[in-house]
Amino acid sequence: MMQHYMETKKEYPDCILFYRLGDFYEMFFDDALTVSKELEITLTGKDCGLAERAPMCGVPYHALDAYLYRLVQKGYKVAIAEQVEDPKLAKGLVKREVIRVVTPGTITSVQALDETKNNYLMGIVYEVGQRTNQTGKGRDGIYGIATADITTGDFMVTEVDSDRELFDEINKFSPSEIICNNAFYMSGVDIDGLKNRYNVIISALDSHFFGEESCRKVLREHFRVGSLSGLGLTDYGTGIISAGAVMQYMYETQKSTLEHITTITPYSTGQFMVIDTSTRRNLELVETMREKQKRGTLLWVLDKTKTAMGARLLRTYIEQPLIHKEEIVKRQTAVEELNMNYISREEICEYLNPIYDLERLIGRISYKTANPRDLIAFKNSLEMLPHIKQILGEFSGELLRGLAQEMDPLQDIYGLIDQAILEDPPVTVREGGIIKDGYHEEADRLRQAKTEGKDWLAELEAREKEKTGIKTLKIKFNKVFGYYFEVTNSFKDQVPDYFVRKQTLTNAERFTTDELKHLEDIIMGAEEKLVSLEYDLFCQVRDSIAAQVVRIQKTAKAIAGVDVFCSLSVVATRRNYVKPMMNEKGVIQIKNGRHPVVEQMMRDDLFVANDTFLDNGKNRLSVITGPNMAGKSTYMRQVALIVLMAQLGSFVPAQEADIGICDRIFTRVGASDDLASGQSTFMVEMTEVANILRNATRNSLLVLDEIGRGTSTFDGLSIAWAVIEHISSTKLLGAKTLFATHYHELTELEGTIAGVKNYCIAVKEQGDDIVFLRKIVRGGADKSYGIQVAKLAGVPDSVIARAKEIAEELSDADITARAKEIAEISSNITQHKAVPKPDEVDMQQLTFFDTVKDDDIVRELDGLELSTMTPIDALNTLYRLQTKLKNRWKETQ
Ligand code: ADP
Ligand code: MG
Repeated sequence: MMQHYMETKKEYPDCILFYRLGDFYEMFFDDALTVSKELEITLTGKDCGLAERAPMCGVPYHALDAYLYRLVQKGYKVAIAEQVEDPKLAKGLVKREVIRVVTPGTITSVQALDETKNNYLMGIVYEVGQRTNQTGKGRDGIYGIATADITTGDFMVTEVDSDRELFDEINKFSPSEIICNNAFYMSGVDIDGLKNRYNVIISALDSHFFGEESCRKVLREHFRVGSLSGLGLTDYGTGIISAGAVMQYMYETQKSTLEHITTITPYSTGQFMVIDTSTRRNLELVETMREKQKRGTLLWVLDKTKTAMGARLLRTYIEQPLIHKEEIVKRQTAVEELNMNYISREEICEYLNPIYDLERLIGRISYKTANPRDLIAFKNSLEMLPHIKQILGEFSGELLRGLAQEMDPLQDIYGLIDQAILEDPPVTVREGGIIKDGYHEEADRLRQAKTEGKDWLAELEAREKEKTGIKTLKIKFNKVFGYYFEVTNSFKDQVPDYFVRKQTLTNAERFTTDELKHLEDIIMGAEEKLVSLEYDLFCQVRDSIAAQVVRIQKTAKAIAGVDVFCSLSVVATRRNYVKPMMNEKGVIQIKNGRHPVVEQMMRDDLFVANDTFLDNGKNRLSVITGPNMAGKSTYMRQVALIVLMAQLGSFVPAQEADIGICDRIFTRVGASDDLASGQSTFMVEMTEVANILRNATRNSLLVLDEIGRGTSTFDGLSIAWAVIEHISSTKLLGAKTLFATHYHELTELEGTIAGVKNYCIAVKEQGDDIVFLRKIVRGGADKSYGIQVAKLAGVPDSVIARAKEIAEELSDADITARAKEIAEISSNITQHKAVPKPDEVDMQQLTFFDTVKDDDIVRELDGLELSTMTPIDALNTLYRLQTKLKNRWKETQ
């Protein structure tokens, strides 16, 4: 056995091998050490033919899922070696084989999965300079990205040609496992960074996974098509390789036919609004920035779905807003229709409520891991379909009607389960109690034999007693002889010919007859046969459902859609949202808009609604000033969220809205607001500003929150200023922008730069205090009220008083005056010559180090040999250097 173990282990070197021995899965050697440590289970030993006993630990077979889940969560891969023949029948060593490899991206156990989230496996293939895609891009390299959820059968593929787009896709799907080719692993991408940021395991697979021919072949064979153009994959060279690799990896780990993966969907990233990684985080679309939880996110507000499928689909809607007007309007119409037919909507919700996760159920059915109780859950779900289909059929909008048509009531499958499977079956498949009476003749007979066997024996006993006249005739049973008639010696003469003698005792004799023998066979074998027959019948039912996977998946998708639109409609009604008009003129006009999340976190309608007007002309860029805590960030995010909600097809929190469709939304929050990410450096802030300036278009919406805050006032102000000039210049960018700043000097730009308008969030002064009004109004704030805010926050009175004194002396009138001058000069300049493009600008900068490197104190510090100095030496040197410095200061004063 140990030898076989070693051979098996050699085939799965990167996996922990769970080796089935009787009622346990055992691990040996290093695997045992790892597992005992990770799962805190006892380490023992086993003789293995070597001098030392092999370290060993084990988990009971019935708890497999729980242990698997914990190991996979920690990023391990586990290979499961099962006994593949019945130990009772085996001659010699029981045959064992690896039946499945479980990895984070391919785990299917229910408890390991969040049902409201897809669990994605992603394949990334990087190819350099080998092909160019349709648009002629990709000379520097193309990434093929294939993403699959093995539990639902979703499978998608795309191609991108930059790191950034790749990260956006990773971020959009947040896969739990990535497999990639060596070229990607070695391409200089920060693999460890990726691993940490997305909590994903990444492995480079052997090159045989990425052979072009084998990839094409596996896809053709799996999807049973003659050519890949039938799948719409013609234009995806690198994408095909990534999809083929994922397919092969799934085959190798699952060792099943994967019948439930029925389609592959190619998509282009240009079909959806581009939302980059930091924007997703900043807007808190599906998880909050700090706690990484759902409460407090847009998803949390919009999610009133009833089914797991709906919940997952809504999440993808939020992560991929649309950019084509007709598609958006179709969704809006669906929501509107449901709003207007509120009774029908409530009815649909009632019917949706009991529906289980059909997608994952059909996954388990195809995998043959679904148990009888799963089938009952399936049946109970199917029961709802005709009702939903019927109600939906009454709607006239294209989308809802389409969903009704897509929906197959699947009543044949309902009927099959209803006839075959008992209402309250066990979760086990090999202990009987699954199949209904009347479904199968033989099963009925066996079941009857089991329960009615006693009656039959009693009846036979009475009949033979009557026939033979043997008054003491009895049917008895023992283990050795089975059932027999016992005749006491006094009746020996009356025993008929057809009684066959089995045994003679001193005072009695034992017989059997053909009829008794037959009954015995029936009764004794019945139990065992019934259990195994029920298992076979159950498997047949399961397989015939599995054969209908395409119909079921289509219906499940339709149900998910209905669920999402009902959810959007429920939220729209309950929260008083309106249907936004959509335009392609680039105008964003919102009347009394609200922040969907903040308003809901607030009690008693305290949220103050605000208007917005942006266009591609005179109102391109709003500079928003106002003291800290006034509500600048909230307001800007509210606008971004309203635009995003509109484009995903939702109604929006406003009194009226007309939304110009945006191709991208970018948000950037000044460094100090973003401590949670652990990368709150000015450098990161600027990198992202650079990215925005490079990738935004005139149809993008930019939300820049206190840009430049991460550095000194002067640098910060100057950068903010230059960024505004760049963005608002229609020659360079001209994107619609909300720009919050605490540099009220920037309000000077209105009137000098075209398209810039000042807004501020009003506060009221009450003596020494301020009251936040939360209302956005035209004009700039001329004060920052920092001291008042500090006072509100409870900074001691003595500090506040002193701060006021200092402020009076330091009055920033000087800066403001100077800013005015520059604004005037630059407006003159821009009239004559265009602002240079950023890449033409010389990026040279003088650093602190450049200015001090010739200083003698610094030079001496630099030259110290710390390793050879005693502590006393070091202290003395420090003292000397410090004195030198102090003297120098004295001189300069
Ligand atoms: P700023 O960015 O100007 O410092 P924030 O946007 O962070 O201010 O807002 C500060 C707080 O004010 C928020 O936590 C929120 O509770 C409250 N707030 C913001 N906008 C509104 C509003 N329109 N109505 C009511 N409360 C608001
Ligand atoms: Mg703020």
